[in-house]
Amino acid sequence: MLDRAVIDALFPAGLPEPGHWERHYPQRQLPEGAEVTRFGPSPTGFVHIGGVYVATIDRDIAAHSGGVYLVRIEDTDQSREVEGAQTQFTRAFDYFGIPSDEDDEHGSYGPYHQSARARIYLSYARELLRQGKAYLCFATKDELADITARQRAAKIPTGYYGPWAIWRDADPATVQAKLTEGAPYVVRFRTPDNAAGQRVRFTDAIRGELEHEANRNDTVVLKSSDQSPRLPTYHFAHAVDDHLMRVTLVIRGEEWISSVPLHLQLFDALSFEPVTYAHIAPLMKQIPGGKRKLSKRTDPEASVDFYIEAGYPAEAVLYYLRGLANGRLADLPLHEALATPIRLDQCGVAGPLVDLVKLEDISADYLATLPGHQVLDAVRTWAGQFDPDLATVLDAEHALALRALAVERDGVDNPRKDLRKWSDFRPAYGFFFPQLFIPLSGPADARLIPLGVDATIAASFAHDFAEGYQHRDNPQEWFNQVRELAAKHGFAPNTKEYKKNPNAYPGSIREASQLIRVALTGSTRSPDLHAITQALGAAEVLRRLHALAG
Ligand code: GLU
Repeated sequence: MLDRAVIDALFPAGLPEPGHWERHYPQRQLPEGAEVTRFGPSPTGFVHIGGVYVATIDRDIAAHSGGVYLVRIEDTDQSREVEGAQTQFTRAFDYFGIPSDEDDEHGSYGPYHQSARARIYLSYARELLRQGKAYLCFATKDELADITARQRAAKIPTGYYGPWAIWRDADPATVQAKLTEGAPYVVRFRTPDNAAGQRVRFTDAIRGELEHEANRNDTVVLKSSDQSPRLPTYHFAHAVDDHLMRVTLVIRGEEWISSVPLHLQLFDALSFEPVTYAHIAPLMKQIPGGKRKLSKRTDPEASVDFYIEAGYPAEAVLYYLRGLANGRLADLPLHEALATPIRLDQCGVAGPLVDLVKLEDISADYLATLPGHQVLDAVRTWAGQFDPDLATVLDAEHALALRALAVERDGVDNPRKDLRKWSDFRPAYGFFFPQLFIPLSGPADARLIPLGVDATIAASFAHDFAEGYQHRDNPQEWFNQVRELAAKHGFAPNTKEYKKNPNAYPGSIREASQLIRVALTGSTRSPDLHAITQALGAAEVLRRLHALAG
């Protein structure tokens, strides 16, 4: 074993002892049963919707147990760091209302970026070295590649273990010579379970008792000495952080189950109380003949930005995700489901399918319950970022926007479900706004073709309708003028009459009304026509009718 003086000389003078950090981050004073959870995103790419899923569970369990939920940015792999990823985290977490309870301004357990905690990890790495629980490894890239190649050729597990761990039992004089030479090294954990075939058992809060092969690898805990600052690996950093941040419950993706044996070894070597682990099944996607993990690379809906840019309301997404976590929550009404605690023991071990059609249905149902002014505020906020032209129009036409949104929404039993996300507003409601609506170019406008009404008749019908137009607020009276005028222009009084003798009429009252609908909305499908005229106002109705008349 290396002399303590040799070990200490490898670290900055004045580096605190672990005891210092233990005192600096005392046990939290929390009620019995309170859970401290954390979400540990790495800024190595866009935020995955699975991250929002896990963070929602983290936050919920902490909040309902009277505990704390924190976000710790795991940025020790600086070579893989992606520009802008951190801003995106903040944006995503704000959007979904799941910001950390603690951060560098409000929290006593920070810094909450691992890259700012380098000194802490060094204290613990030095301690492991002093106790002989870690050692210096000078193996070069080529040597490591050679070891892997020989293991592959021999068809045995690859890794730095057993006889392959060439620096594990190196003679201190050899180590000293390398140090004198200035050769770079990493610090490796001296795994206590070095023999082949050992198994470990542990309890997972979702999956119950698990048994796994013990960790034999002398895993790197501190990366190369020729880098500054010297940073730990994820495995080592998470152990130190979860301990010092006084985390009690680690909820993370199931891809980490195979690392639990190593993590338990590290906690033990560092004399830390072990934490409880809960491994969440990943979100899945349906593909022909089966399902697979929702993939960062190929599935746009894997990115949180997909939901934010399209403007899926956070409540609907959270409601949907909670239902995926605990099936019973999907059966509750939205507000009740958002307020009902998520239970780990009800999380499945099979990954749930993310079904956008289902999400859109949920979202449409939810949006139909909102009052128009709330929809308008949300659409305006969304448009400010993603559709600036729409934002300008909404600012100029606030009252019209409210009237438009009131159509078949305010005071009705079955509100329209024409919005699933904020970006649906423009296609569904854009026609209300003179700035966004393109009036017909005359009776030959292509949008009228589906009606099959003769253009001359359509034009004179629209012309007469505009001439005698009565802007009645009584729907019956309003519609009577359409009926009377349609009769005058030879339209059949109903579709039955028309179908009996189609050559005798230019269309039925249905086609006549549709002419007005297309003139006013540009489409053959729209909300209630009379309600639309009331929202538009007489002047705009006339302008659009004249456009049809040509
Ligand atoms: N930084 C890790 C990741 O992004 C977090 C794993 C954990 O939660 O322990 O996967």
